Amino acid sequence: MVDTDVQSRIHELRELINRYNHEYHVLQQPTIPDAEWDRLFHELKRLEDENPDFITADSPTQTVGAAPSEAFEQVRHEAPMLSLSNVFSREGLNEWIARVRRFAGRDELEFTVEPKIDGVAASLVYRNGVFDRGATRGDGMVGENVTANMRTIRDLPRTLTSPNGPIPEVLEVRGEVYMRRSEFDLMNEAREEAALPRFANPRNAASGALRQLDARITAERPLRIFAYGIGMVVGQIPFKHSDTLALIRALGVPTPPDTGVYSDADELWAACEAWLEWRADLDYEIDGVVIKVNDTRLYPEIGTVAREPRWATAFKFPASQGVTVIEDIEINVGRTGSLNPLAHLKPVEIGGVTIRRATLHNQDEIRRLAVKIGDTVVVERAGDVIPKIVSVVEENRTGDEHDFIWPEHCPVCGSTVERVEGEALSYCVNASCPAQLREQISHFVSRGAMDIEGLGTKLARRFVDDGLIRSFADIYRLNWEPIVEMEGLGEKSVENLKRSIENSKQRPLARLLFGLGIRHVGQQTADLIAAHFGSTDAIAKATQDEIAAVPGVGKVIAQSLSDWNAEERNQLLLNDLKQLGLRTEIDESERQSTTPTEWTGLTVVLTGRLETLSRGDAEGLLKKAGARTSSSVSRKTDLVIVGDDAGSKADKARDYGVETIDEQEFLRRMKMDTD
Ligand code: NAD
Repeated sequence: MVDTDVQSRIHELRELINRYNHEYHVLQQPTIPDAEWDRLFHELKRLEDENPDFITADSPTQTVGAAPSEAFEQVRHEAPMLSLSNVFSREGLNEWIARVRRFAGRDELEFTVEPKIDGVAASLVYRNGVFDRGATRGDGMVGENVTANMRTIRDLPRTLTSPNGPIPEVLEVRGEVYMRRSEFDLMNEAREEAALPRFANPRNAASGALRQLDARITAERPLRIFAYGIGMVVGQIPFKHSDTLALIRALGVPTPPDTGVYSDADELWAACEAWLEWRADLDYEIDGVVIKVNDTRLYPEIGTVAREPRWATAFKFPASQGVTVIEDIEINVGRTGSLNPLAHLKPVEIGGVTIRRATLHNQDEIRRLAVKIGDTVVVERAGDVIPKIVSVVEENRTGDEHDFIWPEHCPVCGSTVERVEGEALSYCVNASCPAQLREQISHFVSRGAMDIEGLGTKLARRFVDDGLIRSFADIYRLNWEPIVEMEGLGEKSVENLKRSIENSKQRPLARLLFGLGIRHVGQQTADLIAAHFGSTDAIAKATQDEIAAVPGVGKVIAQSLSDWNAEERNQLLLNDLKQLGLRTEIDESERQSTTPTEWTGLTVVLTGRLETLSRGDAEGLLKKAGARTSSSVSRKTDLVIVGDDAGSKADKARDYGVETIDEQEFLRRMKMDTD
């Protein structure tokens, strides 16, 4: 780039970042994902690093946050509240460690690792142990006085308690004000019932609540605080950051759990990765971890640059959101005949994966998002699930976008589309719709169901399209003549396929039941129903009430299964499958495990790390004993098994009066304890 191009790009980036900063910090309504902001910020930083003459003191790379709002009394921070530098990889972290060692003038250093909670930075000043003043970070130098609002935070102590020794005369605790996911969800549910708009995410909701002009509104919002350090101090505090955190905790201010101390770079990295793994299970959102030098006496030596200290850095987790354009919206017909809108996207990389498609769930979701074809959208990818569209970037509209017209007919077979009352999905009414059959067969042969190796989705669809398979039973009476001739299928793969189809006849009844793809009958439900009735014959005869009486099976499932039973062709199918030699009954060993136990029908939540069992094994045991496992605690939960470092699920269970037991007790009740 020539100088003028560089200068104008720098100018453009600063304008954009300032605008996004205002939306994020002041309005609490960001319009772009954080990863997109990070990308712009790093581009600006790189251009400025390469052209230091263009750096100005007001560039966002030199400043923190946004100016405090005039609606609040202004508070000057005695020690500036800074931002953090970022690293995105192990190499980045190693470079940071090398730099810190150089500045500290020594190789042996201890580091701490803490979660980087995604909330809003706050300063809490305690005088003689009494909470005196709360402030936001503002621009790092001057923040907003939000004392009255902070007094409403439920886990912020008004007075500090000191078990061992005196409390510093003045102690400024720094922390992150945030909302728990579970409490955020409850708040949103309540808002929806009161016809109020939902909040987009816990971070924006926390930031908005902390900066209310009326503390009574703040009091209604479920704010919490995690302290991660200190600012100004008059009095004695330990010189190690980890000891300071322990002191803060002892004084009664919550600090993040699991903050370890590491001197080995490999162990440090392993701790960062461990947090990445726990991320999805936490009841609070984190966007990374913060690594700090433990010996605070070295801080002046290591120093600070512009907006960030050199003695700390944030390892930012891979992005889960990105921005792209919807090129088209297509309707896929699922195995139950549901019409599933799928957005075709301009390919975008999110967290190292190229995303081309995202789900729009259903007609209501398209309406709620007010999304049009051609729109710029924010896409989110979480775990292995199909990415989804989160919001539309309305400012990017040019007028060329157009509405998506919801079809009145099935796009595959042309039959009428119906919407079941009380459900968000529309369905193609034609039970023999080829699209449904294709999806049903690929579900039937899939791993969780009949697990027919060699008959993947593609081949299953080909057999359907060639008319070789018209029902599940056809899989077991395939005409092999045309198949051996098929292009791309060698003799060996045909032999293997024959064998795996034959083997699949031995799959337990629950797997067969799940494979049938009856609406609402998922894996867990199929287990319960198979165990309760014991055979397809008994299931076929079961009335709706009998099905609903099975512990763990609700009315909706019972209705769906009895509707399925009522169709003659389904009865014929079950008969066919029996004649073809599939296992349509449970055997003796399964029957034994289905004798009711103290676990039968219980809803159990596992939280924290177990010492002797993996999560999967524990879930397997529970399931076998007849219990259902769930990932969240509600009033309907019967029991919570609490492992090490359990978070808020255990607290929530206690709040709800749900029984909690530890691992030893769990093993004892499972009759697995070794004592
Ligand atoms: P930052 O949020 O990345 O890091 C600094 C902050 O981390 C601190 O102020 C502190 O509040 C917080 N933090 C959480 N846990 C901590 C811990 N254990 N120890 C120390 N600090 C901890 O930096 P920033 O300058 O506040 O904001 C920049 C970030 O904000 C960007 O990376 C982006 O993610 C987001 N942002 C987004 C937009 C947008 O439009 N989407 C706009 C502006 C900023």
